[in-house]
Amino acid sequence: MKLSAHRFRRNRTLLLSALLLALIAGFTAGAQPEFVGCSTQDLTPVPDTAAFSPAATAFAEAGSGSATEEPLPEKWVCLTFDDGPSKTTPDVLAALNTAGVHGTFFVVATDYNEKYLPLLTEAAAAGHQIALHSASHEYSDIYQSSDAYWEDIALLKERIAPYVDVESIRYLRFPGGSTNTVSRRYGGKGLMKQLKAEVEQKGLQWVDWNVCAEDAVGGHPSADTIYRNVVRETGQQTNCIVLMHDSASTRTTAEALPDIIQWYTDNGYTFLTVAEALPLS
Ligand SMILES: [Zn+2]
Repeated sequence: MKLSAHRFRRNRTLLLSALLLALIAGFTAGAQPEFVGCSTQDLTPVPDTAAFSPAATAFAEAGSGSATEEPLPEKWVCLTFDDGPSKTTPDVLAALNTAGVHGTFFVVATDYNEKYLPLLTEAAAAGHQIALHSASHEYSDIYQSSDAYWEDIALLKERIAPYVDVESIRYLRFPGGSTNTVSRRYGGKGLMKQLKAEVEQKGLQWVDWNVCAEDAVGGHPSADTIYRNVVRETGQQTNCIVLMHDSASTRTTAEALPDIIQWYTDNGYTFLTVAEALPLS
């Protein structure tokens, strides 16, 4: 890992700054309240974290003198998809596979998407990263307590185990993000801090985002709107984790993908999975 600690800290600062800007943009845009994932109203206006957990920092610092890892490119982007698999997934996979790009899927296993879970096998076989999101995605259940959260994660792993190697999965994304405030309603103010610590204790890594496609807002944005959201929120950022959705109601995300991929390609970005961008030791 040649990404120096100094550069990594600088990148973290950039990610944090970008997240703040994205949040401000989200608030002024008046995002709709009902969608899951990138829900600005559930995120604190001043996040207390960078876009990913400290484990990556520890790795970067520990590995900064090592020549065994490939250095990360100057400009990279992770395309991440929450809330799948769903009936949209084949279109998302087709767009990624056609472009030869690997994405990262933070998956759910609700009663509604059960029949799409076998698509995870196909996604993993094509080189995409499968990561954890939630079994139920019900804030009022999973954020009742630490026990409730981990029971939900255990259920998710149980449900996707027939399709992917769950024991090798070490990345997760909290529903609503790591700085969500919706959890306070159910589990109290300290719950997210506790969950983040527990994630790290278990050798896992949580991952937020610093570019939001705003594809899951009410009104079903068009592919062109999603594309413009991504370009606008990327701005001058050189290390991007893009939040998109892979749910039944976000079909236009798949439509927008070819243009999004083309834009990042034209602007010199390398596509990485989250595990490639934020490797764990
Ligand atoms: Zn979600």
